Amino acid sequence: MLEQLDKEYVLHTYARNYVNFKKGINATLFDDKDRDYIDFTSGIGVVSVGHGNKEVAKAICNQVQNITHISNLYGIEPQAKLAQKIAKLANMDVATFFANSGAEANEGAIKIARKYGKTKYDGKRYKVITLEHSFHGRTITTVKATGQESFHSPNFAPYPDGFTYNMAIDDIYNSIDDETVAVMIELVQGEGGVQPFEKEAVQELAKFLKQRDILLIIDEVQTGVYRTGEFLASNLYEIEPDVITMAKGLGGGVPIGAVVTTHKDIFEPGDHGSTFGGNYLCTTSANKVLELLEEYKDAGKLDETIISFGAKLNEIFEKYPNIFIAQVGLGLMRGLRVKDADLLKKVIATAFEEGVLVLKAGRNTLRLLPPLTISKEEINEGFKRLDNALAKIG
Ligand SMILES: *Cc1c(COP(=O)(O)O)cnc(C)c1O
Repeated sequence: MLEQLDKEYVLHTYARNYVNFKKGINATLFDDKDRDYIDFTSGIGVVSVGHGNKEVAKAICNQVQNITHISNLYGIEPQAKLAQKIAKLANMDVATFFANSGAEANEGAIKIARKYGKTKYDGKRYKVITLEHSFHGRTITTVKATGQESFHSPNFAPYPDGFTYNMAIDDIYNSIDDETVAVMIELVQGEGGVQPFEKEAVQELAKFLKQRDILLIIDEVQTGVYRTGEFLASNLYEIEPDVITMAKGLGGGVPIGAVVTTHKDIFEPGDHGSTFGGNYLCTTSANKVLELLEEYKDAGKLDETIISFGAKLNEIFEKYPNIFIAQVGLGLMRGLRVKDADLLKKVIATAFEEGVLVLKAGRNTLRLLPPLTISKEEINEGFKRLDNALAKIG
């Protein structure tokens, strides 16, 4: 029924699995036949505080019984408080624009860069450098910013100009020219294969760019909101970028994007906007998510969870050298490189049969993005099921 409806009425942009989930509790999901699954995906890094989180639900419920949306023509108290909270947790002197998704947040970041080049360099600087294997979104501009040729399908041409790609951080130095306004990178490439960059290399790049007044934009749509163990991966890398974008884990499942910048006066009224961005619903949810995660981090529970998860992951990695070739990632953004893409496909399908949800990244990386609040029992059960699946494969 679900499959039939979906295929008939929903546009075919996803290769879908038609399990019909009905209920969720933290990192456990139940389908319409009451089968349970351990969720090592958290909806691709979104459900940061788990499924069916009662405190988030209560906060949302209280808010939407009153006001869901007003428009950005008026001040919105939970939005202002959320912006303040982001600045406090980031420990930076920043202001935020709220959007509705990661791609939209990156669009905002690119607009900041363009305006910076226009006002300070008379428009002579406009180019944004990004990296191969990056992922920045699916709008026409952010897909062009994404450094993967396979994303630049001629079906959607023409694309906007002003993007160049580099293979690695070290190559960025050579391709900077008089027209470069910004460099945009992830600190751990998510979709590209859960690949973290070296801290020293990033710090050196940040310093170099600052000396030349070239903006550093860090796409933290996936790494942000404690995913790597700190509020921002930028905190972990000890850098102060000009612009940081966030989205996935921020709303706990409610759509929200954020463009956070130290250039607090770059925009003036009319420069940018969004109908839904930062409304009462999404900012109320995000405020509760950040409140819960700040407590969780301060109580040492996030670090404990990262250690438990990492230990189990390591066991699996060492037990199956015939399947896995490397361990990658940071915090609760982890990956295991699989020998080849076909084998990875088999691992994901068999894991599903055994009742554990896992993701793919890049060509051959098994990616794990559990809810940050996953319990020890759920970690143990999830890895037991993954082990069963791997044993079946060989
Ligand atoms: C998911 C992701 C995006 C796109 O976010 P959407 O909300 O799907 O638009 C952008 N950048 C990174 C690093 C991501 O992981």
